[in-house]
Amino acid sequence: MGKVALRAGVGCAVVACGIAAVAVGRRARSRRGWGRAVALLKELEEGCATPVLRLRQVVDAMAVEMHVELASDGGSKLKMLLTFVDSLPIGMSLIARSFSLLRSDQLHVCVVGSGPAGFYTAEKMLKGHEAAKIDIIDRLPTPFGLVRSGVAPDHPETKIVVNQFSRVAGNEKCSFFGNVMLGGHGVSLLELRQLYDVVVLAYGAESDRSLGIPGEDLGGVYSAREFVWWYNGHPDCKAMPLDLKNTDTAVVLGQGNVALDVARILLRPTSELAKTDIADHALASLQESTIRKVYLVGRRGPVQAACTAKELREILGIKGLHVHIQESDLVKSPTDEVELENSRIRKRVYELFNKAATSQQSNPIMGQRELHFIFFRRPDRFVPSESSLHISGVRLEKTSLEENGDSGRQVAVGTGQFDDLNCGMVLKSIGYKSVPVDGLPFNIHQGIVPNIRGRVVNGAQLEHTEVEHGLYVVGWLKRGPTGIIATNLYCAEETVESVLEDVKRGLAASGSQKPGRQGLLQILENKGINYVPFSGWQKIDSVEKLRGQLKGKPREKITDWEELLRVAHA
Ligand SMILES: Cc1cc2nc3c(=O)[nH]c(=O)nc-3n(C[C@H](O)[C@H](O)[C@H](O)COP(=O)(O)OP(=O)(O)OC[C@H]3O[C@@H](n4cnc5c(N)ncnc54)[C@H](O)[C@@H]3O)c2cc1C
Repeated sequence: MGKVALRAGVGCAVVACGIAAVAVGRRARSRRGWGRAVALLKELEEGCATPVLRLRQVVDAMAVEMHVELASDGGSKLKMLLTFVDSLPIGMSLIARSFSLLRSDQLHVCVVGSGPAGFYTAEKMLKGHEAAKIDIIDRLPTPFGLVRSGVAPDHPETKIVVNQFSRVAGNEKCSFFGNVMLGGHGVSLLELRQLYDVVVLAYGAESDRSLGIPGEDLGGVYSAREFVWWYNGHPDCKAMPLDLKNTDTAVVLGQGNVALDVARILLRPTSELAKTDIADHALASLQESTIRKVYLVGRRGPVQAACTAKELREILGIKGLHVHIQESDLVKSPTDEVELENSRIRKRVYELFNKAATSQQSNPIMGQRELHFIFFRRPDRFVPSESSLHISGVRLEKTSLEENGDSGRQVAVGTGQFDDLNCGMVLKSIGYKSVPVDGLPFNIHQGIVPNIRGRVVNGAQLEHTEVEHGLYVVGWLKRGPTGIIATNLYCAEETVESVLEDVKRGLAASGSQKPGRQGLLQILENKGINYVPFSGWQKIDSVEKLRGQLKGKPREKITDWEELLRVAHA
């Protein structure tokens, strides 16, 4: 029976994948075709008893995989797929079973972090457990994590997701507590675990990976995270000592989407940025900026560049920009050809580089802004200026690609040939890193909380692993700093499934005597923490929108801690 069910499940999943892939992949697919695919998928789903959840997960995973590419097509197909997947009946899945069993038991849940992972978790918990009471805490007075402080100001369509999150926050069973930090002078993990049946950590990745090369502490070297926070008005980076007037050249280390974002902000005409929700201080600095040339440096070649076609197309399309790509860097090895064959995304990116290289003018016109893609180079050290306090350049080592036996990936290895690239500013876009809090198992090497499908575990070796009952993790803190906003939806779904399964098995105490929200309010009062409720954020939101209106922008962000709190409590 088990084997038959398994075979049926795998079969159905494979067929479903095929249908989803075909359905999604065909651009010119008619509505009727889509309807047929949906009907067929539903039929399959109803026909399979046990594997419904698995079927759904396979389709979900495919949606994540395909998201980047679909987003490049304008996102409409993606939205259809997501809507469809979201509305799939979940049949005999664990969620449904837990739900029916746990309807009447009160469940106190605390979600730490109000970014996409936190809000998707809250949303799924509300759907999955009728008696769940959810408190979302965030160290900032404002919600939405990187949707507010990461997503570029000239990508307003990406931020629309906050409407969905606001509806979650507006649910009577959900409360937001801004200006409440886990750790430091805020609340401790131990306290939260004593107050709540379930604690889900969704506090993201708020630190940076370092290169570990000489000169990294010199003035003029910043992480892309700080720069992004600065232009997005994160209150921690308002006072960043950024000088855009002492140089005409900036180097961005990395060629992923964040690297492209920061390069675009440096190069895009400020008249265009002025219409976005970019922070006022950043716009003023960019208006006075003397930076004309931006170099985007990558260890590997155009075939391996980590960006997506949509973002690349956007930066290449900046009005009046001179783009330079060394044509010899576009020569492909047989291994590159295989890589391109295996990835449509990589192929599109490569084609864009190729097109840009062949259509570029040989020299920039006087005063024209320049974007240079530098491939096959890795930073060796930051070169100090005469004062030894500031950088005057980056020493780069030429690399070549070697196949890594284990992973099959091509890795960059140094060739011992060096050259210096003069510049007055460097932005390191080499990855974000999560930080541990007291009492939390943490994998320093990977920069994540060790977990099994969202259940936090401790113990270094797999055989000695112990589950931390009632403690869960989701989002960048769970997976590392990769993936787009939608990736966190699938991630949250997995974590919530684990929570509900544990509640059902009595492993996360439901119906217990834990005080939940009342206990939190008591602790906040005892500690003198002036928390910001969602209504406080709504006041900030209104003031920002009003100030923005006066300047012809969607909002003028409040970037000062004290002012944020003042407005929230007005
Ligand atoms: C520069 C940049 C641009 C991006 N652009 C896009 C894009 O255009 N489209 C897209 O789909 N994806 C984009 N992404 C990816 C997307 O933002 C992430 O996938 C997503 O935000 C990760 O969600 P998260 O909830 O895990 O973390 P976060 O969004 O970082 O949320 C974490 C939350 O936890 C809070 N927090 C941190 N520490 C504590 C603490 N100790 N106590 C309490 N609260 C705490 C933070 O204030 C924050 O609100 C971008 C990412 C970056 C870095």
